Amino acid sequence: MKRRTEAEAVRIFKDAVRAGQPDLFAVSVPVSHSAVGLAVQLPSQCQCGSANAALCTGTGLYPGKLKCPKCGKHRGWVSHKTFRFLASTVDHFGKPTEPVLVRAGADEQ
Ligand SMILES: [Zn+2]
Repeated sequence: MKRRTEAEAVRIFKDAVRAGQPDLFAVSVPVSHSAVGLAVQLPSQCQCGSANAALCTGTGLYPGKLKCPKCGKHRGWVSHKTFRFLASTVDHFGKPTEPVLVRAGADEQ
């Protein structure tokens, strides 16, 4: 799959909106990968006992995934919205020196 520049993605989005097809925009925008490698602390422990995870590049529908740094087990997927938020935060403030604390989602409480 050809990787698009941000300018190309914006042009495609504007053309799609004019044509009444904004859903074409969904997978075209390049995302900063500055958050890859970010340390995350999850609300649950891995089978190896570690509550930490590392943000890695995802596949398919998910731009990111969480992987246990101790045993390598998959700990979860990261949505586009969350991945963009983390990337923009790291771009703006730099990588944090301590793991980012992830709390349980609203449906898990
Ligand atoms: Zn583990």
